[in-house]
Amino acid sequence: MPAPEPPANGYTRRDSVVLGFFALAAAAMSTGCATDKLALDEFVQKHFKDLSGDELKDRLAQMEKRYSEEYGKSVKVSATPPLPGVLFGYALDLSRCIGCRRCVYGCVEENNLSRDPQTHWITVLEMDKETGVDLRHADAYYDHETVPHPGKFYMPVACQHCENPPCVKVCPVQATWKEPDGIVVIDDDWGIGCRRCLAACPYGARRFNWGKPSIPPDELNPNTEYLGNRPRQRGVVEKCSFCLQRTRKGLYPKCVEVCPVGARKFGNLLDPDSEIRYIIENKRVFILKDELNTQPKFFYYYGL
Ligand code: SF4
Ligand code: SF4
Repeated sequence: MPAPEPPANGYTRRDSVVLGFFALAAAAMSTGCATDKLALDEFVQKHFKDLSGDELKDRLAQMEKRYSEEYGKSVKVSATPPLPGVLFGYALDLSRCIGCRRCVYGCVEENNLSRDPQTHWITVLEMDKETGVDLRHADAYYDHETVPHPGKFYMPVACQHCENPPCVKVCPVQATWKEPDGIVVIDDDWGIGCRRCLAACPYGARRFNWGKPSIPPDELNPNTEYLGNRPRQRGVVEKCSFCLQRTRKGLYPKCVEVCPVGARKFGNLLDPDSEIRYIIENKRVFILKDELNTQPKFFYYYGL
């Protein structure tokens, strides 16, 4: 009888669960250690969407305990559901943005991004006013003493929360999906680190943690969400979550709040009286890579 074919990606969630289960079971039996027992429980967890109310409560409590011990402070992990009748959208006024990167660093603090190595969910691109939007010749590493630099304009880019997200389609274990409020989320504990989603995203919006993210405990934002800004581990993918820990509670994303020139707008696309709807209906908005039919919910415009 021929040997069974290996999986196309060489590695499946089932493989990782089975191998991990035996390794952890052996460790828990030999040491009797509570941490090993906790890790064992996490390995045999159900998919986030299949958890019952009590199972979810237990899962969140386990995480709060683990993070609180790790960071030496009380960390809250919530799982706030999407609000009914809401589809979130974003708009950015390119005529206002001055390229100061305050949004980048506000995002780092709010969303518990690694300080060393540095991870950024937002990239601000610098381009020539003369040539207009040209992503191929954009500079993400500009370093001027003052901004805006003469002759340049700035285009911040992050996850576009596509209505038709290619990153979701390629995930072999359904560790990333689109929520009813339009936010594309990732369950770090379910992903297997295969990085297919990174390759599939045409906007370069996803980041992979090659090393363990590092956040000084006194800088950790303790108000976290399971599908949002809870601390990540090595070997997982992360990206902007439209600050769901804030926006599902009626607050603006942090980047909107910290932008000194009001370039960033956010709101409910289903609300005809919202500012975001006004912009889409009254300004000449455009989306990136329209031809790919990803249908971003992130719109750019010139407010003048
Ligand atoms: S921008 Fe990239 S990561 Fe975000 S939803 Fe679209 S394809 Fe996915
Ligand atoms: S904070 Fe506002 S002005 Fe500064 S780079 Fe971000 S969007 Fe542009």
